[in-house]
Amino acid sequence: MEGLSLIFLGPPGSGKGTQAELFERQFGLKKISTGDLLRDAIRRGTELGKLAKEYINKGELVPDDVVVALVEEVLGKTSDGYILDGFPRTIEQAKSLDRILEKLGKKLDAAVLFAVPDDEIIRRLSARRICPKCHAVYNLVTKPPKEDEICDVCGTPLEMRDDDKPETVRRRIEVYRKDTELLVDFYRKKGLLVEVKAVGNPEEVFEFITNALKR
Ligand code: AMP
Repeated sequence: MEGLSLIFLGPPGSGKGTQAELFERQFGLKKISTGDLLRDAIRRGTELGKLAKEYINKGELVPDDVVVALVEEVLGKTSDGYILDGFPRTIEQAKSLDRILEKLGKKLDAAVLFAVPDDEIIRRLSARRICPKCHAVYNLVTKPPKEDEICDVCGTPLEMRDDDKPETVRRRIEVYRKDTELLVDFYRKKGLLVEVKAVGNPEEVFEFITNALKR
């Protein structure tokens, strides 16, 4: 698994971020999450952050050119294997990624599709909590903190992500079905699609993915 270049594709709340962290820890693949990069820009109050916030809080996608520039910058500084978590999300972004990789002389090994039913997504997102200080991610059902709604790492009260509120979640799922699902075909045609059932605890899903990638 070391040195692989992967895309994690799937609806919001399908566990892409959690698995990308496990892969980072286990195999040293660099996690490149556009959602994390944008949230970081929002926290720092940069121009990019101000722009991104407008879209994120409505559950809409941030414009392609903005996220493409962000990914191009990070990939340019990445020498080993990596996981793109939450990028690409549109065909336009996928085509830009091809151009960036060609320019950098990098390749793509697989696009892993996380398959999760809608009702499970809604259940997971309504239970997701994040630490506003150290950004650790919890789930009140599947990965609860030791003390009620308090971060295990730094003791800060946990919060819900603004875009995990029910109205925004519904819109994010719609956006996924409309834009991002088209990517499944895009990568299937390239022979890069690896579909995994992303239901179960994180360790089980980790095994499903590593087994599927070995095949
Ligand atoms: P995530 O953390 O991947 O669920 O992303 C949270 C939000 O950030 C999304 O709902 C979008 O508003 C924005 N976002 C993240 N990645 C992208 C992307 N590749 N293209 C456009 N918007 C994105």
